[in-house]
Amino acid sequence: MQFARFGDDRFGFVRGDDIYDITALTERIIGSRPAPRWGDPFIDALPQIRAALASETLGAVTARVADVVLLSPVARPSKLIAAPVNYDLHIAEAEADPAISLGKAVARIDQAGLFLKATSSLVGAGEGVAVRFPDRRTDHEVELAVIIGSTAANVEKDAALGVVAGYAIGLDMSVRGSEDRSFRKSIDSYAVLGPWLVTADEVPDPDRLAFTLRVNGELRQQANTISLLRNVRHLIAWASQWYTLYPGDIIFTGTPAGVGPVVPGDELDAEFERIGVMHVTVR
Ligand code: MN
Repeated sequence: MQFARFGDDRFGFVRGDDIYDITALTERIIGSRPAPRWGDPFIDALPQIRAALASETLGAVTARVADVVLLSPVARPSKLIAAPVNYDLHIAEAEADPAISLGKAVARIDQAGLFLKATSSLVGAGEGVAVRFPDRRTDHEVELAVIIGSTAANVEKDAALGVVAGYAIGLDMSVRGSEDRSFRKSIDSYAVLGPWLVTADEVPDPDRLAFTLRVNGELRQQANTISLLRNVRHLIAWASQWYTLYPGDIIFTGTPAGVGPVVPGDELDAEFERIGVMHVTVR
């Protein structure tokens, strides 16, 4: 199943090209539950919302997906966790490009650890990316985004996929330079999530998903999550050793080779097997 947020903070159930407004049902269920201490109330309530959808009629189609402004499917995650340098070929290109590596060896992921992006950087596909410093280089990084579904700490790798609510496409937009990753990657609109959440049951193996990123129609990044150096189970288990994970927390799993600059006016199309296509405009 696919769930979106759209327009003026509406909740949507996506089927094909159509979106059904499920805001009333969603708000009724969220209102009937205690608010989670941390995390996103919609993701926290998702199992109950899915059960309700199975027994209630959807009503008329509200809109075509193409005609609504898509917001981030998670409104208020407690944290955005991100994996640096998690594909071999991206390490090689980073080390070859002084604008990325500053001429230094790039620390491998086990040494670098994970990093956090500000939650306030999060936007949906329809909101687009606003380049903040036009005189500096802002790069695209397309990544599989994992949306945590339940409160979890010290999860074993074998159980890790059991705490996933779903998956989405992530763009970890990045200003290049000498500052810490969290500083350069936390600018407003520099974390794009969408176009919707695909529930975990529709993605039997997140470590085997082909994906691409095109800029103005030109292929820039093309890879498969099978090449992740630290796979989805590993990232969840690792992150949960350091932080308690809460419903709606998002893990950006890292970008493959092919990163490059974007400028205002660029049109990005990210496509992931089993998720779909996400169109994002840079301004
Ligand atoms: Mn990244």
